Amino acid sequence: MAKGGTSQRVLVAGAAGFIGSHLCDALIHRGDTVIGLDNFYTGLPRNIAHLKEHPQFTFVRADVIDPLPLSLRADLIFNLACAASPPHYQADPIHTMLTSVMGTRNLLALAADCGARFVLASTSEVYGDPLVHPQVESYFGNVNQTGPRACYDEGKRAAETLCFDYMRAGRADVRVARIFNTYGPRMRPDDGRVISNIITQALENRDITIYGDGAQTRSFCFVNDLVAGLLLLASHRSAIFKAINLGNPTELTVCELAARVLAMTGSRSSIALMDLPVDDPKRRKPDITAAQRLLGWTPKVPLEEGLRDTIRWFAAGHLKPTVQDRRQRVRASHQINSPRSA
Ligand code: UDP
Repeated sequence: MAKGGTSQRVLVAGAAGFIGSHLCDALIHRGDTVIGLDNFYTGLPRNIAHLKEHPQFTFVRADVIDPLPLSLRADLIFNLACAASPPHYQADPIHTMLTSVMGTRNLLALAADCGARFVLASTSEVYGDPLVHPQVESYFGNVNQTGPRACYDEGKRAAETLCFDYMRAGRADVRVARIFNTYGPRMRPDDGRVISNIITQALENRDITIYGDGAQTRSFCFVNDLVAGLLLLASHRSAIFKAINLGNPTELTVCELAARVLAMTGSRSSIALMDLPVDDPKRRKPDITAAQRLLGWTPKVPLEEGLRDTIRWFAAGHLKPTVQDRRQRVRASHQINSPRSA
């Protein structure tokens, strides 16, 4: 619930995205008024279509890189605006980097102006290909700053820096969540991530693409758990001068994930081994002691249950992007491809 039991005016940047749209739903459900902002570069209008006529929801189409509309006011600001799957954030790496850096700067300036609390959706990618396992927040990471993932990793690292500089300067009250791999309904079928790829491939009996030998690990958190963690972090009463990991520590290899999905879908797919992408992290698992102690947060949804819900959602008509989704993405990429990001 919002501050002192009263409803808040919450700005969600990245509202039409996979996590952003679930966050909007949760905020509206608890009684807040939400201003959703998105450029539809990777977010989808259909993710927030059900909120279009909702009295607690308004939508602003904007790119956080650009100066924000002067009329925007909020008590709480979430910044989830950024392409987040490797193929999508690498498609326009300059825009990705600027989205994190300039977008966070613009939204922090707005937070300072409104006296709003600011929550940054950072990422486990700040740890790069980690040499410390599981990843604890005090670990500085192992990022290749010149590689193809750097636009996202270094962009988010710089965004974190901006947050803590605003905080130290007393200009904004910030919270930084380092979000680990998250999955659930409303993932884009074409975002190229392992969960969406494997599920759509299995449901269509196409080859399951495993990059490398599939021995690399990830730890997957169901989106509802993640949103609950974000809300707890946002409403925590005192200042938090460090980033907080939010993720599910249940670790498995990509091969194990594929085997589970194949068994759950009864698929006839075969495995196809492909090249491992450059700088692909070998192991990833969050240490969530800080989130447990500070926020009393632990993810509740077991992988089996979350995968069942996600498989059901993809099977119910979300196996491919719609023609509208494709057009939207092309239109959005033309719009962001302006001289400021070149
Ligand atoms: N991956 C895979 N097959 C796919 C997509 C991804 O084997 O079709 C691997 C990828 O190389 C990585 C892991 O699955 O090791 C997770 O990839 P994802 O893109 O979901 O997220 P990341 O954690 O790399 O950002």
